[in-house]
Amino acid sequence: MQSKDLLQLADQFGSPLYVYDAEKIKSQYERLTKAFSKVEKLRINYAMKALSNVAILQLLRDLGSCLDAVSIQEVQLGLHAGYSPDQIFFTPNGVSLEEIEEVHALGVQINIDNLSILEQFGTKHPTVPVCIRINPHVMAGGNENISVGHIDSKFGISVHQLPHLVRIVENTKMNIVGIHMHTGSDILDIEVFLYAAEILFDAARNFKNLEFLDFGSGFKVPYKKDDIETDIEELGKKLSKRFNAFCEEYGKELTLIFEPGKFLVSEAGFFLAKVNVVKQTTSTVFAGIDSGFNHLIRPMFYGSSHFIENISNPKGKERFYSVVGYICETDTFASNRRIQEIAEGDILCFRNAGAYCYSMSSNYNSRYKPAEVLWINGEGHLIRAHETFEDLLKNQIPLPASVAKQ
Ligand SMILES: *Cc1c(COP(=O)(O)O)cnc(C)c1O
Repeated sequence: MQSKDLLQLADQFGSPLYVYDAEKIKSQYERLTKAFSKVEKLRINYAMKALSNVAILQLLRDLGSCLDAVSIQEVQLGLHAGYSPDQIFFTPNGVSLEEIEEVHALGVQINIDNLSILEQFGTKHPTVPVCIRINPHVMAGGNENISVGHIDSKFGISVHQLPHLVRIVENTKMNIVGIHMHTGSDILDIEVFLYAAEILFDAARNFKNLEFLDFGSGFKVPYKKDDIETDIEELGKKLSKRFNAFCEEYGKELTLIFEPGKFLVSEAGFFLAKVNVVKQTTSTVFAGIDSGFNHLIRPMFYGSSHFIENISNPKGKERFYSVVGYICETDTFASNRRIQEIAEGDILCFRNAGAYCYSMSSNYNSRYKPAEVLWINGEGHLIRAHETFEDLLKNQIPLPASVAKQ
C-alpha cells in the first residue's frame, strides 16, 4: 500500500491509528508455504499473540493457517474467529495444570513445557495426546529478552533432561505425539537453526508415536531497506531435505509445523501518529507525537528500531530528529533519526507495526487504545474502534458511599 493511502486513512479515521495491509499478510503466508512445498504435510500455526484482532485471525484462517495460542483467552478468541479446536495449538509457558486441562477439554492440542506439569498431567490423563516443548540450548535471538532457547531460559524442557522425561512418559504411559522447540526471535544464521533441528530429531528418536515436529519460529524480518532477514527460501530448501530424510528414517510421514508471528504480520503493519509539537533544544530537535509507549512499546521495551517516515512531506529534505511520545516518562521512539522535514500536524508513519505493537498496548496515562484498520482490496475497513471514556471506567467499581467516607 502507498503513503497517500495511509495519509487518507489517518484523515478518515483519525490518529493515532494502526493500519494492516491484507495483501502483505497473504504474500508472506504464501512465501512461507512455497519455501516448504517439498514437505508433504506442512502446517502453519500463526502465533496470534503478535496481533490478535479477530479480523486478522479470520484473514489468516481463510488463507489456510492454523493458530498458536499461549493463553486460554487466545484459544477462546481463536474459536470465536471460526477456527475449529483441531486447528489450534496451545503452547503456554508456566501456566497452571487447571488451565491446561481446561484447554484440553476444549479439544485443543496441548504442549507441555516442564517436567512437573508433564508428570501431573500424564498421571491424570494418560491417554491424551501431548506435545512436549524441548529447550535445545541453542543461542539465537536479537535481544536477550526474546532469546528463549539458551541455557538460562525459562522455556521448555532441557534436552539434558531427556532421560527423566522418557522415564515419566514410560511410567505414566502417556501418549507423546509431537515435539516442539522455539529458539527465540531473530534467527539469522540458518546453520544455527539447522543445528537446533538436529537436536530436535535426536529427541524425537525417543518416541515411537509421533505425528508432528514443531520448529517454532523466530524468523527475522527486515526493518528497513537492505536489512538482513532470515533467508526463508534457503531454510526451506535445507530443512525440507533434512526433514524428509528424518521422516524416512522414522518410518512415517510426520507433519512439519512452524508458528510464525512476526514473519506473517510485522511488515503488514503501519502505525500512524500526528506530530503535536516540534521542540528545538540545545542538543536536538524533538518531534513529539500524539502517542507514546502505551501504544507502541517495543522501542522502549527491547530497543527495536522502527523505520519512521513523514508521509505528510514525503519529498521533504531530511533532517535529524528525536521522535518522542507524550507519556510522562522517558518515551523515545527514535533518537537522531533522519526524517523528512517535520512540521506540527504532520503524520509520521512507523513501519513494522504489525507484530507485538497493538497487542502490547496499554491504557497507561489513562489514554485510549487506538483504532485498527485493515486495508483490503484498495479499501480501509475499521476492525476496531478507538476506545472511549466508558472503556476506561468499564470495570471500575466506586466504593460505596458509607465506606468512602471513613
Ligand atoms: C511468540 C512465539 C512465537 C512467534 O515468534 P515470532 O518471533 O513472532 O515469529 C512462536 N512460538 C511460540 C511458542 C511463541 O511464544
